[in-house]
Amino acid sequence: MIEFKNLHKSFGKLTVLDGLDLSIKKGGIFAILGPNGSGKTTLIKCLLGMVIPNKGEINFNNESVLKKWEYRNNLNYLPQIANFPPNLTVIELINMVKNLRPKESKESKLIELFGLEDFLNKKLGNLSGGTKQKVNIVLTFMFDSELIILDEPTTGLDPIALIHLKELIQQEKANGKTILITTHIMSVVDELADEIVFLLDGKIYFKGSIEALKKQTNNNNLEHAIANLI
Ligand code: ADP
Repeated sequence: MIEFKNLHKSFGKLTVLDGLDLSIKKGGIFAILGPNGSGKTTLIKCLLGMVIPNKGEINFNNESVLKKWEYRNNLNYLPQIANFPPNLTVIELINMVKNLRPKESKESKLIELFGLEDFLNKKLGNLSGGTKQKVNIVLTFMFDSELIILDEPTTGLDPIALIHLKELIQQEKANGKTILITTHIMSVVDELADEIVFLLDGKIYFKGSIEALKKQTNNNNLEHAIANLI
């Protein structure tokens, strides 16, 4: 479904992606891991067309994304930091996003699931970080799409919201969707990920199942296995 070929990206003298090759098949949950600054967000932004690589190719369903933009109608993206307009209310933002796509949307169910009913008329600028993240999640999951990209989706969530988020991700997988997720929470990776993609020095250092990682590093604890990888 997604292919990165020989991807290079530098910011000034800093090389972030250094000839990265990666293929991701359709269906399943892929955890994109790596130390801070290893280029996870840059890789995602290249796929979204928000960062233009210096060199390389990116294909989505066998078509180059660098030349066409329509593919973006078929993916949902949860940014690591949601820059919401502070003076809009929650419901005004949800309705604005809803009007952008002529697709069926399921925001009501999600508002209920994350207990946002009492916040709908509050201004986004007055919400706590965790409540903003719940809004971020509603906006990401309200439309159906083939690919779902989640950059640190658990930030600020309370334990109940975290359970709901994990269930949502699992439901999407059961419906045949492809989910890319970056997170520092290893229990989320352990519970959800079908494959781990580990970035280091601008390249893919490891790609495979959790079992394969544990076997390769001779360690049954995921956190330790990842620490042993490098
Ligand atoms: P990660 O998501 O793995 O923490 P990022 O992709 O956010 O890493 O960043 C990788 C490196 O690139 C970091 O050193 C970061 O400071 C740098 N970087 C990211 N975006 C920019 C930018 N727009 N301009 C300059 N440097 C950037």
